[in-house]
Amino acid sequence: MEHKIKTVAIVGAGTMGQGIALACALAGYDTLLFDVNKDFSEKALQLIRQTVEQSISKNKLSREFGLGALNRISQVKNLSELRVDLVIEAVVENLEVKQKLFLELESINPSTTIFATNTSSISISQIASVLQDPSRCIGLHFFNPANVMKLVEVISGKLTHPEIVVRLRDFSKSLGKIPVEAKDSPGFIVNRVARPFYLESLKLLEEGATGVEGIDKLLRSSGFKMGPFELMDLIGIDVNYAVTVSVYEGFDRNSKFKPGEIQKEKVDKGFLGRKTGKGFYDYGEGR
Ligand code: NAD
Repeated sequence: MEHKIKTVAIVGAGTMGQGIALACALAGYDTLLFDVNKDFSEKALQLIRQTVEQSISKNKLSREFGLGALNRISQVKNLSELRVDLVIEAVVENLEVKQKLFLELESINPSTTIFATNTSSISISQIASVLQDPSRCIGLHFFNPANVMKLVEVISGKLTHPEIVVRLRDFSKSLGKIPVEAKDSPGFIVNRVARPFYLESLKLLEEGATGVEGIDKLLRSSGFKMGPFELMDLIGIDVNYAVTVSVYEGFDRNSKFKPGEIQKEKVDKGFLGRKTGKGFYDYGEGR
């Protein structure tokens, strides 16, 4: 018999983990939040609280509903406490880290637990390959900010069970999202199509065509909601760079996906965007 999803664990309390945790709690799920760095999960809870308070003060949420959602999120200090119906991982964009995490969680969870990854670009089949039961591993790719953006890419690995796909499509809908099925290929749909947006803008900057503000302004004026540099700062320059590297490798180093030097320099210096207070722009204090 189908096991109903009631409890969800969000692993990784960074930019994405925060938004996904809030989306799940608002939809009524008991939500556990875990990060290897305890300070990050505490900070994440503060930021989630701020977001809810702002929505309440703007009358987008009733106080009762907002506080109810906050009460459904608990910070968990040990990985071993994560026994849930659904795990959604939002840790660093690194294959080995994601595999190790799922492997550990598989060993402490029942056979009914579903393992979803929020990876932006890594093969779902590869992540799933280390699991004893890869049929319950799936890609669930949210967009930033995850509590606001409606689109979710649902990605099956080679061995993902079709029933898991149906259940996670329904789960996404229960969060008020619009699930779209995508193929397990590097960058799936959105991140693959978006690569030239970032890479060509970085090339223009390298060539000295114009500055960061100029390129952002031009692209905003031509209809994009955000310019490439402000968007990279929102996403996290490290995350955006890791995604480009992964897509580049995934397409056998096709030169059209070659990562930009400027971006790498920012990553090396720790200028990661909004989360560190400095990226292509300055933001004062980071998260
Ligand atoms: P982030 O750097 O903001 O946060 C990652 C968090 O994971 C950090 O707090 C880190 O301490 C934690 N972490 C690292 N290893 C861990 C482990 N083994 N166990 C528990 N916690 C661990 O990154 P992010 O931007 O939230 O991205 C997370 C994932 O979501 C990545 O796979 C990324 O590709 C994907 N993603 C990001 C965006 C975006 O716009 N930033 C959008 C869609 C998907």
